[in-house]
Amino acid sequence: MKHSSEGICYCGKGRNLNIAELLCASCSTWFHESCIGYQLGKLVPLMMNYFFVCKNCSATGLETFKKNQATFPQMCVTAIGNLMQASVKEGKPRKMFSKDHDIVPFIDCHWEGMTTMARRVTQSWHATIHRTLTKEVGTMFLCKDTSHDGSHPLYGLLGLHLTQIKPNYEAMIKGGHLRITEMGIQQVTAAGSVKGRNSRKKTLGDHGAGPSKKGRGGDSGAIKLPAHGYPLEHPYNKDGYRYILAEPDPHAPFRQ
Ligand SMILES: [Zn+2]
Ligand SMILES: [Zn+2]
Repeated sequence: MKHSSEGICYCGKGRNLNIAELLCASCSTWFHESCIGYQLGKLVPLMMNYFFVCKNCSATGLETFKKNQATFPQMCVTAIGNLMQASVKEGKPRKMFSKDHDIVPFIDCHWEGMTTMARRVTQSWHATIHRTLTKEVGTMFLCKDTSHDGSHPLYGLLGLHLTQIKPNYEAMIKGGHLRITEMGIQQVTAAGSVKGRNSRKKTLGDHGAGPSKKGRGGDSGAIKLPAHGYPLEHPYNKDGYRYILAEPDPHAPFRQ
């Protein structure tokens, strides 16, 4: 994915950081949300958590799009990127932002556009954002605190230009989440990528205040399955056997 090999959107125009744009996994071209025929749903600019193939690269002539669950670091990068771009638009460019006054409010406002994860019922994720930012200082984020008591840290992106905020398709290929086939590049719908799609509504209601107490380990909105990977409510038949899924279950990442 060299810069020189990057093409240009169907419309022939260059990038516009004020609107959502998607990078084709196959030809590394950026496409404007408004030029894409696929019903994309809610998005925000500068996202990292999706898979997109343009019409030109598709065997069927149709675009492919899938929004994935964003990690918290990805949500922070997208939030800071959008805050930077908004400040440029306002004519008051800023690079450093407050977790409480800028980053958390942005994510709160745009949650559904940013991720497929169910919106949290409690505010415990504010602390997760804080931990994410602090943990990745020096790797992904910059941190400066100009207050005398060190109580108002500001966070920015470390050496990442806004035009470079994109899905890491190379890592997705290496990690086995994307596969290059005769039909073009395809997303492997296995562990993680389709997590929570069927269970989103239920999870919100069922868990109640749960995620705040035990949400540490997995920040997923998916139904928790036992370690063996299939639901407990599968009934035994009269011979004492029970039927389990013969196909790989995307909700059971540890069971092949
Ligand atoms: Zn366009
Ligand atoms: Zn393409």
